[in-house]
Amino acid sequence: MNTATLTREAQWPGLINPDGSRWHYLDTAATAQKPQVVIDAMMRALGSDYATVHRGVYARSADMTLAFEAARRKVAALIGAQESELVFTRGATEAINLVAQTWGVANLKAGDRILLSQLEHHSNIVPWQLLRDRTGVEIDVCPVTEDGRIDLAAAERMLTPAHKLVSFAHVSNVLGSVLHVEHAVKLARNVGAKILLDGCQSVARIAVDVHAIDADFYVFSAHKLYGPTGIGALWAKPEILDAMPPWHGGGAMIDRVTFEKTTYAPAPQRFEAGTPAIVEAIGFGAAADYVTGVGLDVIHAHETALVAKAREALQAMNSIRLFGPDDSAGIVSFAMEGVHPHDLGTILDEEGVAIRAGHHCAQPLMDHLGVPATARASFGIYSDESDIAALVRGIERTKRIFG
Ligand code: PMP
Repeated sequence: MNTATLTREAQWPGLINPDGSRWHYLDTAATAQKPQVVIDAMMRALGSDYATVHRGVYARSADMTLAFEAARRKVAALIGAQESELVFTRGATEAINLVAQTWGVANLKAGDRILLSQLEHHSNIVPWQLLRDRTGVEIDVCPVTEDGRIDLAAAERMLTPAHKLVSFAHVSNVLGSVLHVEHAVKLARNVGAKILLDGCQSVARIAVDVHAIDADFYVFSAHKLYGPTGIGALWAKPEILDAMPPWHGGGAMIDRVTFEKTTYAPAPQRFEAGTPAIVEAIGFGAAADYVTGVGLDVIHAHETALVAKAREALQAMNSIRLFGPDDSAGIVSFAMEGVHPHDLGTILDEEGVAIRAGHHCAQPLMDHLGVPATARASFGIYSDESDIAALVRGIERTKRIFG
């Protein structure tokens, strides 16, 4: 990995405790720590390079506009797309709401059906329920297999010509299970449905090419990709994006405004009302560059090896129940017999280990697993075996405390 060119400490300031020791951060699936290159790019954008975009007649603003659009190009390139196909949103959540409230309202009507899965994040459930309230569409829920994957054999049985949309997570934020996207796309196509893929957990973990996958919509957030919060992306096929009506109205998304009638800018600007998150976009672009530079194949191999080691170590402790498949991407969810995940999380924190404990914004999946919450360790580029060793030490201490 060319990350070795900087020391770990210099490159990931967020991973260093105040006393200089290493923080065992195992919550990258919630949000990733930032490499120094992203922080530096954002500091420059906020300081010496700062100006607005798209409107300025002065050189600084013209330069910032170029940098902003270059960031869009870098983020689009990360998923094999063109910049004209990529809308900046506040995050994946906003991107899904955008699709539901524009494409969904324009194209779906009472009697149409949407297929979701049991393992979806609330961000890929609630926007569709809001659309259901508005239009009368019906929602169906594809079950998950015993080992925690979206059950595509069940999806095939469930899908009918009434289904206009399939919306699945590419990688589960709880179980780390990876969707067989080509198969899912084929099933959607067989019934003439569009397919949206929630790429929040996949873009930073596996190489994605939206055109090769032949998806219709792909959404993700910058902050899980080693970039900042407050920005994310919606990619859609150009012909779909071009036909989508605007959502939020305001500056920057228009062509011409009169009180009688307003005409709109072409996509992607049509969906970006108001002054955008300029500094965050620069950070997003820097993060896309960084991840591309390291290489998603390298990242994937690194995280796969860590998942295998973590699962093996946890399996060896007979008080641990593991969830999800062995080949999960970067994420391991588990439960400890007789210990609530929150208690485990608190004791681990005392040991300098940060995990996530809770329902992970996937309550329907918790209901299916029959638990109120799970403990989740998730890895990133910067994770290593010392993090797993610290996790195991913390679990052993928890065992002693709880007898
Ligand atoms: N989908 C998945 C699979 C996620 O992991 C997350 C974040 N936990 C989201 C959607 C929502 O992302 P955001 O909060 O950044 O909009």
